[in-house]
Amino acid sequence: MASHTTAIVLAAGQGKRMQSKIQKQYLLLADKPVLYYSLKAFEDSFIDDIILVVGKGEEEYCRTEIVEKYAFTKIKAIVEGGKERYHSVANGIKAIRADADYVFVHDGARPFITVEILERALEQVKDAEACVVGMPVKDTVKISDESGFVEMTPPRARVWQIQTPQVFSYSLIASAYNKLISQEEELAQKGIFVTDDAMVVEYFEKRKVKLVEGSYQNIKITTPEDLKIAESFLK
Ligand code: C5P
Repeated sequence: MASHTTAIVLAAGQGKRMQSKIQKQYLLLADKPVLYYSLKAFEDSFIDDIILVVGKGEEEYCRTEIVEKYAFTKIKAIVEGGKERYHSVANGIKAIRADADYVFVHDGARPFITVEILERALEQVKDAEACVVGMPVKDTVKISDESGFVEMTPPRARVWQIQTPQVFSYSLIASAYNKLISQEEELAQKGIFVTDDAMVVEYFEKRKVKLVEGSYQNIKITTPEDLKIAESFLK
């Protein structure tokens, strides 16, 4: 039987680094909102359901201006996000069908995800249960100490920059996020800040996460320069 796959597409960020009144996921890229592009890739792929996570009070805007306007059919729920990205993911997980097999967590601010990358990730998650899309770094990376001096230089061939989607078996990600939400304060006290989904699975489930090749174009629109780069990719 074919597995049931759900995508959680995150669009509840404030996008403060964009210095724009409009949040980055709604800015226009070649006359369509940034968020349209990733939803379109999921819509055109093997994914069964999409859960769209948006900011408080933006549900109706997204329903009319994105879901209905572009006739997306796989968006089964539009849910409210939370303060941090991981709160938004946790809210998305709550809306997933109990019989789901795999969950693809994706930043709505990454418009250049392709069906080919999604297929590569599906292939790997079937075996590894947890995988993240990323690319090997091109520059040398250094880890600094607290005073801004180099502490170490990791071997470049083994350093990857991580993108999304991050893909997990449903039971694994649901269990990891349950633990995260109940132990949120202890984690903050230890100085651990959750910046991606894989680290939640690494920390709470002690699971190995497989790296899957994404693409150097799969950028996250964060600052105004990124929008210019994205426009040049579309030309
Ligand atoms: O802020 P950052 O660039 O890391 O956000 C990555 C993705 O997570 C974006 O698509 C953003 O909309 C989403 N996000 C969210 N809820 C938050 C913070 C970020 O859905 N509280």
